[in-house]
Amino acid sequence: MRVPSKDYARQNAALWPQIQDALRRCFLEESPVLGASVGRFEAAFAAYQEVQHAVGVGSGTAAATLLYTALGIGAGDAVLTCARTFPGVISAIALTGARPVLVDCEPDGSLSPQAVEAALSATMNSTTTAKVKAVMLVHLYGHAEAADEIAAVCLRHGVILLEDIAQAHGARWRGQRVGSFGRGSVVSFHPSKNLGAFGDGGAILTSDASLAERLRVLRNLGKGSKYVFDVLGPNSKLDTLQAALLEIKLSHLDGLTDRRRRLAARYLEGLHGLPGIKLPRPHAESDSVWHLFTIGCEDRDGLQSTLVEAGVRAGLHYPIAPHQQPGLLPFVGSLHLPEATRWAATTLTLPLSPELTDEEIEYVIATVRRWAC
Ligand SMILES: *Cc1c(COP(=O)(O)O)cnc(C)c1O
Repeated sequence: MRVPSKDYARQNAALWPQIQDALRRCFLEESPVLGASVGRFEAAFAAYQEVQHAVGVGSGTAAATLLYTALGIGAGDAVLTCARTFPGVISAIALTGARPVLVDCEPDGSLSPQAVEAALSATMNSTTTAKVKAVMLVHLYGHAEAADEIAAVCLRHGVILLEDIAQAHGARWRGQRVGSFGRGSVVSFHPSKNLGAFGDGGAILTSDASLAERLRVLRNLGKGSKYVFDVLGPNSKLDTLQAALLEIKLSHLDGLTDRRRRLAARYLEGLHGLPGIKLPRPHAESDSVWHLFTIGCEDRDGLQSTLVEAGVRAGLHYPIAPHQQPGLLPFVGSLHLPEATRWAATTLTLPLSPELTDEEIEYVIATVRRWAC
């Protein structure tokens, strides 16, 4: 058997009649740039995420750089984030000219509010380092971080809280949607995400109307009106076609998330108690959407080769920690972050995508069990 990590063709085949209708509508009735589908999807997605505004942009990375720019965060500022993260999170900070400040994760992978508190106090008291202007809280793998507690720490220190829900569309912390705790939130619609386009796409979420308006101007070359370039801005808009596809997929997202939760539950049951395998244990207050099912394993590379030989596409998220990435090193400096380093060395991702069959998941479980026992 071959088990892919995900199968875009299967996903799209299931929606093909709806996709064809949307394509026909876009090509024959809508404008290719900022067509009606864009505004409609933005409104639907904002409502789904329980915020006031969504601004569609070209990618998750563009969403982050635009958000920093719109908030005046750049050269001379610092942005604090967890060291266990998708390295692109750090790239976006550095691209704006701000300095990334990395805080190590806890042994369970989470970012602790106390660690944020300590790091903010240290940089606030320092006269030599750039002041932290924002905390970027990333809800990695589809699990919610303690956004309310970290928001309280930010408030005490006069620092802006921002969130990244590129892997956590629809997740909740203590019943509240992640992405609604901070001033603004970064969303990616990369095809691999829980809500994915056919190509790149992204959005910024906010309930601040003036911030949303600045972002709408910024994403469109800084143009406030047809001929007037009010501010300096890149060109990074969500395409009409992508918005139309995302609108369809959003209407199926809850069902697909339920399927992810069922598959995760099956993994947790089928792999329970295996020697050498550490299963993911989301916080009790996290209503996770299981973007990735990651396990911890000291012999990660051995288990990965066994799976690959058996035809199972087990991936790595992410094998090189951000502070060890050659392209990011100049921006973060040489850091000792033992937990993030350990995560990078021991984390393996098992296939978990809603379109995978029960048989495929059982086959993965059987293969891991054979390796462990
Ligand atoms: C994918 C991802 C991004 C970047 O999104 P792109 O659309 O690929 O630019 C940012 N943050 C996290 C946590 C991601 O997983």
